[in-house]
Amino acid sequence: MKSNIEMLRLAALAAFLFLWMGALGAQDLGPGFHKLKDGIYTFAPGGTTTTCSFVVTQEGVVVIDSCNNPIQSRNMLAAIRKVTDKPILFLINTETHGDHTGNNFVFSPPAIIINAEGAGAAMKKAYNPKRAAQQAAQSAEMAEAVKGEKLMVPHIEYNGKMTLNVGERTFELIYLKNVHSEADTAVWMPKERVLFAASAAVVRGLQNLRPAVVIADVLASYKLMKALNPEIVVTGHGQPTTTKVFDEYEGFLTLLTQRVGEMAAQGKSLAEIKTELKMPEYADWNGQNNLGLYIDVAYKSVKK
Ligand SMILES: [Zn+2]
Repeated sequence: MKSNIEMLRLAALAAFLFLWMGALGAQDLGPGFHKLKDGIYTFAPGGTTTTCSFVVTQEGVVVIDSCNNPIQSRNMLAAIRKVTDKPILFLINTETHGDHTGNNFVFSPPAIIINAEGAGAAMKKAYNPKRAAQQAAQSAEMAEAVKGEKLMVPHIEYNGKMTLNVGERTFELIYLKNVHSEADTAVWMPKERVLFAASAAVVRGLQNLRPAVVIADVLASYKLMKALNPEIVVTGHGQPTTTKVFDEYEGFLTLLTQRVGEMAAQGKSLAEIKTELKMPEYADWNGQNNLGLYIDVAYKSVKK
């Protein structure tokens, strides 16, 4: 009898261990990492932090964006090395801003960096040579991670559209005009139906919206990306999602533009609109202090 109970206990323990290891998986890459599909991983450390990703192919690794800070980039590098020992061949930047490109140096060399035309010029213009020293002052860990920092602009700039074939996989790079930075790239994997959507929309948050953004172009980019019919959508910030992120953002931008248009038609100035206009329907989104930047852009669109 006793041995039967003992056996049961052993079996239960074995089952528990099996389940536990299964949950942990071969790919326990740490907090914030998601396996989207076989060989496709995203590192989304938080609700608003920069999301970066990597894709393993038979030939080597393709990285998409270089993460928010050098510590996170090195976490990402460590995760890649847990998954594969294949070389990092390409790094695609989905925009020009430092929180997506400032740590290109962690992956390149050896990675060949790619983004749309104009990316390098914009990155050179925005580059802060004191950034590395400022980061190093934050902590000993950061000081270590930021070692070797230098500006790494794209080696390749494409015009409009580009296809990248790496091993068994295809990456379609699509330039998105006026949606976020001086050069924004969506990365579409047609076979896997995974879309990296740049920062044309982010998950439930208002961004540091630049004045050059054109709402009509942003909405057109959603239409274009939804037409691809992706199964998974990864935006520049936040957790992996679906095309609902485009619908949510379209709803927000449409309502905002409508309200700004009505107030402008009543003869209200931009300053008055900024004081009076509220978007209570979106009060739970991150970055509420950025609403004024969206009003600026919406005002410009209705005054055209
Ligand atoms: Zn940005």
